[in-house]
Amino acid sequence: AKHLGRNNFQIYEVSPEYAQEHGMALKTRLRHAEGNGELRVVYQPQVNTETEDIVGMEALLRWEHPELGTISPAVFIPLAEETGLIVSIGEWVMRTACRQAREWEERYGLRLRLGVNLSAVQLMEPHLLDTVAKVLTDTGLDPDLLEMEVTESISIKEAPNLLENLHGLHELGCHIAIDDFGTGAASLDYLRRLPADRIKIDQSFVRNIGVDPDDEAIVRATIEMAHRLKRAVVAEGVEIEQHLEFLRAHGCDELQGYLFCRPATPVSFGNLLAERQRLLSARAAEPA
Ligand code: C2E
Ligand code: MG
Ligand code: MG
Ligand code: MG
Repeated sequence: AKHLGRNNFQIYEVSPEYAQEHGMALKTRLRHAEGNGELRVVYQPQVNTETEDIVGMEALLRWEHPELGTISPAVFIPLAEETGLIVSIGEWVMRTACRQAREWEERYGLRLRLGVNLSAVQLMEPHLLDTVAKVLTDTGLDPDLLEMEVTESISIKEAPNLLENLHGLHELGCHIAIDDFGTGAASLDYLRRLPADRIKIDQSFVRNIGVDPDDEAIVRATIEMAHRLKRAVVAEGVEIEQHLEFLRAHGCDELQGYLFCRPATPVSFGNLLAERQRLLSARAAEPA
């Protein structure tokens, strides 16, 4: 595999246990994180399995706490959900990432798909569609380039506006991906009922390629089932060549993981795109 750029390693110092214990203090601090400029969006490329060319990217949120360092979204997203802060933080992520994608589109003439994670709380929000429509108008990003990632942990029954919102996102021209596929209790029901364009095979299965034949069988079956239902498939957590080879042999459409690139700051990601552009134009200039 072509390794895309230099890796930025991410070290989180706040453990889930710490967050549990200091939940209240973190929530208070989180209230000011956006205003204090402590939130950042990093981007991880998604590549075409055959060509290994970048076709998209996922926006991933980071919280840079002045004393505690970078806090993992796995730790603070639940706090943001409990406080309802996720609605404004989520809108900030969407706006920041759409603006960034538009900027790269203009600078490099690339039409990369942008994946943005949506929390269950956002998906139940009656204003979600207005927010998305406004962000698209304000930033000028083509809705066709925006893909909302929805995790399987959301219960269709318990989320009143979920289906309406997802259909509404399609009407706006956006796409929908089912994130962490295979980990929820209702994978098949989800696949049948949600208007999804793509599914993302959870990294817990990908990690066991070459290790656990049962997980390998699940990965193969998921790819085949998704294709029969006319959904595209992305594998998450692709870390080693063996994962890549297996996923390629079984027709997985796209790949995302440390093998290609860690989530990168806008500057590193921009450098990656500039490098890619140099390679493509050098290739185009070669005599046939
Ligand atoms: P996710 O949406 O499934 O994102 C993929 C996670 O896998 C990211 O973790 C990414 O850094 C990590 N990852 C990517 N490649 C590899 C790999 O090769 N190996 C391993 N071990 N991990 C890999 P991250 O950035 O810590 O985010 C964790 C979760 O937090 C995300 O999972 C998503 O559910 C949530 N999240 C992140 N940003 C946002 C956001 O803006 N809004 C909401 N609602 N949730 C977010
Ligand atoms: Mg995701
Ligand atoms: Mg995932
Ligand atoms: Mg997830």
